[in-house]
Amino acid sequence: MKIKSIDVRVLKVPLEKEYSAGGRSVGANWHVMAEVTTEDGVVGFGYIVALNHMFIGTVAAATRELAPLLIGMSVAEPEAAWRKLAKAGDWVGPGGLLHYAIAPLDIAIWDAFGKTLNLPVSKMLGGMRDRLPVYASDGFWYSLSLDELAESAKRAADAGFRAVKLRVGNEITPEGEVGRVNAVRDAVGDGVSIMVDATETWTLTRAIRTGKALQDAGVIWIEDPVSHTDVVSMARVTEALDVPVATGEHLYQIADFTRLLEARGTGVALIDLGRIGGITPWRHVASMAHGFGVQVGGHVLPEIHVHLLTAVPNARVVEYVPRSSRLLRAMPELADGALVVPPGGGFGLELDQDAVRRFSV
Ligand SMILES: [Mg+2]
Repeated sequence: MKIKSIDVRVLKVPLEKEYSAGGRSVGANWHVMAEVTTEDGVVGFGYIVALNHMFIGTVAAATRELAPLLIGMSVAEPEAAWRKLAKAGDWVGPGGLLHYAIAPLDIAIWDAFGKTLNLPVSKMLGGMRDRLPVYASDGFWYSLSLDELAESAKRAADAGFRAVKLRVGNEITPEGEVGRVNAVRDAVGDGVSIMVDATETWTLTRAIRTGKALQDAGVIWIEDPVSHTDVVSMARVTEALDVPVATGEHLYQIADFTRLLEARGTGVALIDLGRIGGITPWRHVASMAHGFGVQVGGHVLPEIHVHLLTAVPNARVVEYVPRSSRLLRAMPELADGALVVPPGGGFGLELDQDAVRRFSV
């Protein structure tokens, strides 16, 4: 189980269609991928994904610089490995670029550990269930007209999703935001749940007013209504609404989640696998949220999050944004509105080596 070698590469995976997010046009998904090979010949892989090419090379360089520290360590000691990497980079961390650099290595170690034991990572982390409801989250950007939005939602419903999440926050009035939700409702009917992500665009007053209008329109969660740095306002919105506020994808440190949970600032803590620094710290945040009676969700990377979320008792739903599907032979199966843990060791995923070569830069 000892780590013999580690390869790190950057992949540029082009999108079929460009879209605009956060004022930027997005044409490719950038990956930093690590492949960990053990002395027994087991290969585990892990990656982070970004929409922006800036600093991808820098993150990859940092990952490459950290990798030799793991040679000779066992894949059965991910916690010890994580601490070693974090300590080595403690003058630029914790958080930030350091966590993004550690994450591909940590994720690859868990995959190699699972493949060595021939156990899915979901089972190794707790094995609560073998599937979890999933929502479609790709293709619902602000830039879409009402018709395009409705069409996108219809496509998701036809593909078997029973929940979708729209981006809101760009309309001038709360009624305008409700109009976007209604357009989707008309397209998909009552059998599909609707969530919204305001991507931190509102003031506190606006968030409460619009949040109430949206919950009356039937949405089941409101994500990032205000800035993630304003925990007090996040807690006020949480208190004012009946539906849960989901937030957390921008947080880098366990202590940030402690502060959010202590302030009662969320009903669903969203943990980003890259920002938090991989699976090892992800587990700590999920357990802490459980202690506060708060549910958890992931942010992107559904093929990996399906393992983490099915492992723990307080998971709510998997976000489906298939940014890495072109690198894989197959994504986990969608059945009856749920994402199913693939059989096989580790993540149960197989890289498409031709695609990996083609997209390497
Ligand atoms: Mg979000």
